[in-house]
Amino acid sequence: MSKNSVFIYSDAFQTYKFHDRHPFNQLRVKLTYDLLQTVGALHDSQIVAPRLATDEELALVHDMDYIEAVKKAGKGLLSEEIAINYGLGTEDTPIFPNMHEASALLVGGTLTAVDYVLSGKAEHALSLGGGLHHGFRGKASGFCIYNDSSVAIKYMQEKYGVRVLYVDTDAHHGDGVQWTFYDDPNVCTFSIHETGRYLFPGTGNVNERGQGKGYGYSFNIPVDAFTEDESWLSAYKDALIEIADFFRPDVILTQNGVDAHYYDPLTHLCATMRIYREIPKLAHQIAHQYCNGRWIAVGGGGYDIWRVVPRAWALLWLEMTEQSDISGPLPKEWIARWQQYAPVSLPLEWDDPDDLYPPIPRKAEITEKNAQTVMKALQPIRSNKQRLNL
Ligand SMILES: [Zn+2]
Repeated sequence: MSKNSVFIYSDAFQTYKFHDRHPFNQLRVKLTYDLLQTVGALHDSQIVAPRLATDEELALVHDMDYIEAVKKAGKGLLSEEIAINYGLGTEDTPIFPNMHEASALLVGGTLTAVDYVLSGKAEHALSLGGGLHHGFRGKASGFCIYNDSSVAIKYMQEKYGVRVLYVDTDAHHGDGVQWTFYDDPNVCTFSIHETGRYLFPGTGNVNERGQGKGYGYSFNIPVDAFTEDESWLSAYKDALIEIADFFRPDVILTQNGVDAHYYDPLTHLCATMRIYREIPKLAHQIAHQYCNGRWIAVGGGGYDIWRVVPRAWALLWLEMTEQSDISGPLPKEWIARWQQYAPVSLPLEWDDPDDLYPPIPRKAEITEKNAQTVMKALQPIRSNKQRLNL
């Protein structure tokens, strides 16, 4: 019997909610879940409920006083002055009721995915509630309270003794995960994102390569604003193929923020649905080539929750479960069910039209600049290879 994939899901993912006008909106997970069920691509036997991460698990990465502060904040018991030291109560990460429990559930979802894959119960696992890559050891940042990927990687190291390749295709730099493992040669982080020149969090420069024993295990490809599919994909593919061959991981964890899309309101990239077909395809291939199939995928950013996220995340699951031949029109029932709540017209097709946006004037220049960035990022691997061949 071939091993299966599991989809970690609960409506309780919706409890991670700052307020009604906040751009981070977990309704997108439900929209994705409903889209997949409507096309018959997600079966009850594949759905697994997330568990809550314990304090001990959160403390693998986070400071205990920060965890206590999050608990107090969610009960309305933390003063504003103290909260601000922990990044809580800001515009990006406002305090909301029971924020500890809601955040620990997102981490628990990712840990549930990890346990399924590393115990061999499933080959691949997807938890779209996770992907909160900006969370720091003792501070909330960029819509993230706890960093599920960081906790999951530490947990995998301690419980299963594996070497992890973390791949982050969110439009924002995966800073929280990078800094947590910056000096660790057993975790390789690769983030491709819009340059931090004008975008949060400002880091993710090509020269951030790790430190101490971890030097050479952190890779960053900051692409230019207005980068389009072709240039983005060529950077992603070239880099991931070489990095995976260099690191030879036991397991791959992918963070699948989908905010590089042209429609995303928070970023300045010009990707279309095409990259969201290609990203998981290569991740899937790498998982089988190096990791005996072990692939855990989480969500991440994505702020056009109506036109972008449900399709993009559904494509991730379709690739994971080898149903990626689905294309053409989206199901009419799904559109009819959700259009009444959407402030924009829902897309009618799985894929974007070729003329989604007007031509980008600086295309050639941007493409050339990105190619140079890839060369810089991979230079240590390439020169080392050259040396060995001599
Ligand atoms: Zn993002």
